[in-house]
Amino acid sequence: MFYSKEEFKENFVKLLEQQEQPASPKTAYSILAGMVREFVQRDWDETTYLYQEEQRKQLYYFSIEFLIGRMLGQNLVNLSLYEMVSEGLDELGYSLAELEEQEPEPGLGNGGLGRLAACFMDSIASLQMPGHGCGIRYKGGLFSQGLSDGFQTEQPTDWINDSVGWDTRREDLALYIPFFGKLQVSEEGPFKPEHKDAKWVKAVPYDMPIVGAYGNTVNTLRLWQAELPEQQLLPDGDIDAYQQQVETISDRLYPDDSTDEGKLLRLKQQYFLCSASLQTIVKNRDFPITVLAKHVAIQINDTHPALAIPELMRILLDEEGMPWEEAWGITTHTISYTNHTILEEAMEKWSSRMLEQLLPRVYMIIQEIDRRFKEKCHQENLEPEALKKLAIIDDGMVKMATLAVVGSYKVNGVAKLHTDILKMREMKELNEHFPHKFHNKTNGITHRRWLMKANPELSDLISSAIGDEWKQDTMKLHKLNEFTQDSVFLGDFKAVKQQKKNQLADYLLDQQTVTIDPESIYDMHIKRFHGYKRQLMNILHIQMLYNRIKEDASYRPHPRTFFFAGKAAKSYQFAKQVIKLINTIAEQINTDPVARHHLHVVFVEDYSVSRAEKMFPAADISEQISTASKEASGTGNMKFMMNGAITLGTFDGATVEIIEQTGEDNAFIFGLSAQQVMQFEKEKTYHAREFIEKDHEISRMVSELLSGSLSKGPENIDFIRRQLIDENDPFFVLKDIQHYARTHNRALAEYEDNLAWQEMSVVNIAQSGIFSSDRTIRQYSDEVWGLEKVHSK
Ligand SMILES: *Cc1c(COP(=O)(O)O)cnc(C)c1O
Repeated sequence: MFYSKEEFKENFVKLLEQQEQPASPKTAYSILAGMVREFVQRDWDETTYLYQEEQRKQLYYFSIEFLIGRMLGQNLVNLSLYEMVSEGLDELGYSLAELEEQEPEPGLGNGGLGRLAACFMDSIASLQMPGHGCGIRYKGGLFSQGLSDGFQTEQPTDWINDSVGWDTRREDLALYIPFFGKLQVSEEGPFKPEHKDAKWVKAVPYDMPIVGAYGNTVNTLRLWQAELPEQQLLPDGDIDAYQQQVETISDRLYPDDSTDEGKLLRLKQQYFLCSASLQTIVKNRDFPITVLAKHVAIQINDTHPALAIPELMRILLDEEGMPWEEAWGITTHTISYTNHTILEEAMEKWSSRMLEQLLPRVYMIIQEIDRRFKEKCHQENLEPEALKKLAIIDDGMVKMATLAVVGSYKVNGVAKLHTDILKMREMKELNEHFPHKFHNKTNGITHRRWLMKANPELSDLISSAIGDEWKQDTMKLHKLNEFTQDSVFLGDFKAVKQQKKNQLADYLLDQQTVTIDPESIYDMHIKRFHGYKRQLMNILHIQMLYNRIKEDASYRPHPRTFFFAGKAAKSYQFAKQVIKLINTIAEQINTDPVARHHLHVVFVEDYSVSRAEKMFPAADISEQISTASKEASGTGNMKFMMNGAITLGTFDGATVEIIEQTGEDNAFIFGLSAQQVMQFEKEKTYHAREFIEKDHEISRMVSELLSGSLSKGPENIDFIRRQLIDENDPFFVLKDIQHYARTHNRALAEYEDNLAWQEMSVVNIAQSGIFSSDRTIRQYSDEVWGLEKVHSK
């Protein structure tokens, strides 16, 4: 333990001296991480003890992804030790920032959904609430991304192999999960199916401490690893092959599901997570199972953990011997569900056959849930169409979202607009059947990582103006509204922004040998690559700007750097072609003797939490340009806002609520509304061809695109061509692009008026408090989970 800088230095040096000299940054990192890990242990033990002693209700957040990012720096911030340790290290000739860079980043998630789970963990612990994460300890996280000739390359990552290990193996809590086999039901006596010839997998938990702000509360993120079980549970035959099969379950984050094999593996992962997490909750409880719902709340993050519903039923029925009605009552008072998407292709469905083969008893229970629910619905005189929508099993497929709604006591969307669309369209029938189940919980982000940790300069500036109460209650950021006319404060803000822009330029020079003009406007589009997120519209607009510069000698706009960052799913060909297109257009513009003084396109490779932390604080413009109605919430939009970037975007997801906070004057909004998009989709009255034929600028740009000259070969754009032309531009890129262009011009003009821009930024920060995930978690706790604050010492 260390409570002062001197004490810290002394301990650090002592440990350092036991190592080879001179110690590498990696070694120094390990020592420091070990010290912090030890520092946390006492509070962790104490929190665990308190939970047992006081029998407080516990929340378990089930999620297939936890995109937690690096831990060292964040833990130091939450322990209020960051500055002390940083100074101490400086005096010893080390840089904390450099040591932080040594930490391998656990990429246990794809994007927003996994990052949300991580922000929630931070907020729950910081609000001193009893809540824990349950996930999978993938050996390899998401691939790391490179570029080769402008194409995305994918390299496997193994964060565990060279990791210092924030987590602890808990062999004593290992469990066993059965797959395959068949059910045997004896003719006599009560119905009691037996699972025969199952293939067993051992689940070993690794516990990671989640350190709340100001220490004290340390919750647990429990990640399960799949291993070979002991002798007596092994099948006959080739043990090595079996071991390999078993270990695949926690080998990679969400494998490619374009094959049946990949699908089966995902299903195994889902059941593995649900069964292990539920078994551990039930086995280690110290209350009667009949009152489970009073002691435990389970939140399932999207439908990936929806098998928790039939699995909890299985435990209650088969292991606890409960009658169906009682088991169903407990299950539907314990589990609640968060929906994350309305994109049809992202709604999970599993083939009944596959489920029945892999999980015979669980499938039998799903059938019974479905049968009983259908029976109820049939009593309501509904149209056949509505009945079909309400079916859990339909057409040989199990609809996981329907199962999740039927089996949980609360269902939420992640932004007002998204929840409304769910209630009125996607889940209309379910909402009518369960009118009190649906509610909204607009997502949030932890300001401790995305402002305090990522942008200490801005944090200090804010505190110098309004004190530091905002760190505990972000609504206090409202006080910054008093500074929007304060030219000294605005100037200071501008200086901080410039500092962050310089830092990012330095970092990218070092990492990618790209030279960025720190005086240029930093315009950022950073998120996963997807059709609906419309990176295509952004790059096509940039091509239009380039054409204008070439054509019109009087058009010489303020220099802008357009940043792109994000990964495309391995098998998502369209998205990968957009990445290639961006890089080809980038090369053309960045080497053009005239255009390069006005436009610069930079693709930041291997987008990750740590890269994100460096980018958000440096942004001037936040691109949130999804096709309205398609982005459930977005959380990147909130990180930008909190760091004073101005949103340029559509009325979609939580951006609607961001604009509600800032007013339309402090953002740049354009494009079709969700209503309009849905209308076009319904009436099929949009014809992309008309824009190509009638608009000169679009016409020119599209023919350049289709000729293949922008992408170095027509084969590199065939998926883009198919979407824009053959599929009639389903994301309304060509419909919205001119309005988008005009909106960029408005933003550019506004940027020229320095003070006005600074003022908009400060309004954004002042109004961003509501998007702290602390607010989201308080709402979940009050309205869904019913948690109480842990005693603080
Ligand atoms: C916040 C975040 C996301 C989500 O970004 P959206 O713009 O909401 O899609 C994805 N990846 C990382 C690394 C993030 O930090």
